[in-house]
Amino acid sequence: MNVRTIRWVILLGIIAIITVILSQVFWIRKGLLINQSNFETAVTLSLEQIASKIEIANNGKKITEKPVVRISPHSYVVNIEEKIDLNQLDYYIRNEFSNPFHKVDFIYQVYEATRDVLVFEETVSGDIKNSTIVYPTNLPVLTESKYYFKMNFPERPVVNSVMLFVWSTSLIALTIVLVFFGFTLDVIFRQRRLSEFQKNFINNLAHEFKTPISTIGISADVITDPEIVNDPERLKNYANIIKNENTRLTGQVSKILELAKLENDELVLNYEKFHLNKILGEIINSFNVRMEENEGDITTEFNAKPDLVEADKVHLQNVINTLLDNALKYNDKYPKISVMTARDHAGIFISISDNGIGIPKEFHRKIFEKFFRVPTGNVHNVKGYGLGLNYVKMIAKAHKWRLHVDSELNKGSIFTLIIPQ
Ligand code: ADP
Repeated sequence: MNVRTIRWVILLGIIAIITVILSQVFWIRKGLLINQSNFETAVTLSLEQIASKIEIANNGKKITEKPVVRISPHSYVVNIEEKIDLNQLDYYIRNEFSNPFHKVDFIYQVYEATRDVLVFEETVSGDIKNSTIVYPTNLPVLTESKYYFKMNFPERPVVNSVMLFVWSTSLIALTIVLVFFGFTLDVIFRQRRLSEFQKNFINNLAHEFKTPISTIGISADVITDPEIVNDPERLKNYANIIKNENTRLTGQVSKILELAKLENDELVLNYEKFHLNKILGEIINSFNVRMEENEGDITTEFNAKPDLVEADKVHLQNVINTLLDNALKYNDKYPKISVMTARDHAGIFISISDNGIGIPKEFHRKIFEKFFRVPTGNVHNVKGYGLGLNYVKMIAKAHKWRLHVDSELNKGSIFTLIIPQ
């Protein structure tokens, strides 16, 4: 998929998701409003019923046409100017508001109409059950004056359970869509990055193969010249060049095949017991030759005692060589490399530290991915395929070793292998 198509796919995906979210918000808001308005209508009807019952009890007929005034969504005044038997009022109110539709706590307050003074107040829980309502007998009967009452609902009306079910299922569905969208984007980006890395890898590889192939070609031309038999020294020289270049090519090919094997889980470890410090000493001896070419120092501190380990020796040597190679390659100063071993209850530690260019934090995990190389803009003056650390990680994983990197840009890096006891 090219960049343009990916951009379009992402843009359309984002637009679709935003549209779905907006329409969800719209319907939820609308649902809440409908819920609120249904609640208000039901409250008004119930209060009208109560008012008319009180008026009929006092006067034998209904008097006030529209007794209920909505002050706010939370407060309603019932304008009946009547004597009130609070036992009766309490019973009526509880009966009306035991309807499961209301299901919300409320406070009713009785006022004396002429002086507008609060004379009685009662708080009732929203989940009154019809079967538990009894007619009270202990409340006063207010006959001194005329009274009206007020209903207050301190909380929002409870949302209908069917609505809640619809909203929560659509919210879950939306979350699933978002997760899948994120997952798809992640796969697309990974694929793109991989194909980018593969392109770089093939370019690098072609470049690496070009030199030995052309050297072999030139040497072959020389030794196919009939005159060469007269100069056996030259013949031997060119034959050696072909041999060396062939070894170099074989090395490259086997490195790639080795990685393919690791990938297909075909890796077989040949475990053997050996003294770690001794093997590291040998590796460093031959590495020292290269250090001298590059002018640099390598120091060792082998504190792991006892240092007997059981591992695949060849792979361990490759791992250490890869880490040492990198410590030397990614260095723009006078290289100072240090190799240390230690032992504690967790196992044996091997750490290789350098004073090189370091690796920014955001790439600490990525450097172990296949083909990944820390981006350095257009200039890549250090050759590599981005395979070395991937190999190190695979070998560590196969042995169940732990691998840790600690590095800071321009300060250097420390790679640590922990071989558990
Ligand atoms: P490469 O073949 O590119 O060296 P590696 O897998 O060995 O591949 O390393 C991956 C990347 O990690 C390198 O391209 C480099 O950017 C970074 N890197 C590895 N080791 C070091 C180090 N010691 N110091 C700084 N950068 C490093």
